[in-house]
Amino acid sequence: MSVFDHPEFDQHESIHHFCDPATGLEAIIAVHSTALGPAAGGCRRWQYASDADALTDALRLSRGMTYKNAIAELPFGGGKSVILASDRAPKSPELFAAFGRAVASLHGRYITAEDVGISVEDMRAVRAETEFVSGLPQSGESAGGDPSPWTALGLFLGIRAAVESKLGTDSLQGIRVAVQGVGHVGWHLCRLLREDGAELIVSDVNRRNAERAREELGASVVPVGELLATEAEVLAPCALGNILTSASIPRLRVQVVAGGANNQLSTAGDGARLAARGILYAPDYVINAGGVISVAREYLGGSSREEVRAEVSRIPERLRAIFAEAQKTGRPTNEVADELARRIVAGGAGASRPAEVTAPAGRQVS
Ligand code: NAD
Repeated sequence: MSVFDHPEFDQHESIHHFCDPATGLEAIIAVHSTALGPAAGGCRRWQYASDADALTDALRLSRGMTYKNAIAELPFGGGKSVILASDRAPKSPELFAAFGRAVASLHGRYITAEDVGISVEDMRAVRAETEFVSGLPQSGESAGGDPSPWTALGLFLGIRAAVESKLGTDSLQGIRVAVQGVGHVGWHLCRLLREDGAELIVSDVNRRNAERAREELGASVVPVGELLATEAEVLAPCALGNILTSASIPRLRVQVVAGGANNQLSTAGDGARLAARGILYAPDYVINAGGVISVAREYLGGSSREEVRAEVSRIPERLRAIFAEAQKTGRPTNEVADELARRIVAGGAGASRPAEVTAPAGRQVS
């Protein structure tokens, strides 16, 4: 199939395939939009069933980054990269250096950071080859480092706002939250929820992660296949996307869906399915923007962790505005958010880009 006929193709500006025989690297970088600035979005390493699935993921995730960065009011467009995991291409500094050269070859049109399957250490290896990378440890109080605690903070605050909108209570005391996936984001989220008095129900395909949540946070662990049908007030998907489908939505027994995973809805119509069941959906790219806010401020330089915290703390007000508009117009929250994001991007098209965004001081590759 030609990429232009791909169902997930959405006028992406460019799509790049990279291959490095020495390390086995096979990667795709999708640049969806640079209307608001260079395309920023993390790198995912995943074992895909096929190349076609990897392309689909890159196309969907990169469009989501355009929307996420726009609504978070960041001076960046949207892009995403995927590295195809396989036995032929084990993780190594050399593999990530090869990926770094791929990023460098785009001369700043795309800026990378961590996503699923990628650690801060991996990004350090990327940094050896390119300046166009963020999510690296910083000294002192400067913004930066692993974005997942910031993603979790935005989620936590967003869940509180969603619970308040739907259930009319501003406390999470006794609220049951079913968390799918307790990796980086899910773990930090569970910690915050627990501190606030929520009851945790978790599942993870990695049993060690689920056990840690049980032992250290008192979470109840349910089998992976049962989490979506678990009775709770909130479902927080924090694993992979495509989980809210015509098959899974009728099984849900929650009042709010608010989690960190990207592309939770399988199709836009699934937002309407949730609304028809009276389930309040917090659009994923609005509620999970905390991490990109941190990596953006790190990349641009000059921000403190406190400033990042203040910016992440604005996520609930954005959600409340979307919930209110959805309520007023009777439309699903995902449609309201998509329309808002597209309006912001359209307004930014052709606008002059601040010089510090394309070439932040001290980060340009010579
Ligand atoms: P991660 O790889 O650290 O954690 C994902 C966890 O989900 C792992 O523990 C994995 O074992 C588990 N998992 C996978 N499939 C599962 C399933 N079917 N059921 C239950 N558990 C399952 O990744 P992460 O960084 O925590 O990211 C999680 C999600 O949040 C991803 O969709 C990612 O794109 C999104 N996200 C992450 C960030 C960030 O800051 N890391 C920011 C925005 C969005």
